[in-house]
Amino acid sequence: MNKKTIIANWKMNKSLAKSINFAKNLIKNYYETDNNIVICPSSICIHDVLKIFSDTNISVGAQNCFWADRGAYTGEISAEMLHEIGVEYVILGHSERRTYLSETNEIINKKILNSLENNLKVILCIGEKTRQNNNINSIFTDIEECLKSVPKNSFNDIIVAYEPVWAIGSGVSLDPENANIICENIQEFVENKYDFCNIKTIYGGSLNPENSKNFLNQPKIDGILVGNASLDLNKFIKIISK
Ligand code: PEP
Repeated sequence: MNKKTIIANWKMNKSLAKSINFAKNLIKNYYETDNNIVICPSSICIHDVLKIFSDTNISVGAQNCFWADRGAYTGEISAEMLHEIGVEYVILGHSERRTYLSETNEIINKKILNSLENNLKVILCIGEKTRQNNNINSIFTDIEECLKSVPKNSFNDIIVAYEPVWAIGSGVSLDPENANIICENIQEFVENKYDFCNIKTIYGGSLNPENSKNFLNQPKIDGILVGNASLDLNKFIKIISK
């Protein structure tokens, strides 16, 4: 099996003490895996979590960043700042930010361009809102708008996270075979449109220790993005273990 990327999105769930505790226990109980593991804590916990993982092959990601390097943007954190402290990844375009903070594809595009310029790897989240609205063309439009003006040599640093919004936090996931087909469609779209082969595509939405292997075994699914189940150490260890 190819190396897969397993990303934990803790959202706004773990305090500093809980983040530190999880990170330390993850290392203690961690079985070596060939997969890439990326933990995305709340921004105020990133620095401490990074220090704990410094001698491991576990990477740290942010859940958001701003589109400018610095300036009068009260409350924001830049990709430049994240990169300076050792953050490798940033999640952009998550449906919760689109819903609660009105992030548009235009805003996400500006954040993607700035993140790539600052050498962060981008995890771009896209996915249909309802089960009925599963028109693949709307996903392609989102990708096109979010990746506007991205240079071809940056595509290696982009992971497209296909997350059907209806599956996020609902306890109902898409079936792995269909998720594999959508990931394949996304790869073909990117190849035709941007002449870039095999963009990394991952799946997210109600994954757990029972169903995650079925997704990781799919040939076109390069990894998974895990929300709820990544908050529980035992569940997460089961997900990342072979
Ligand atoms: C997510 O929010 O990206 C996600 C996949 O959440 P959950 O695993 O809880 O559905």
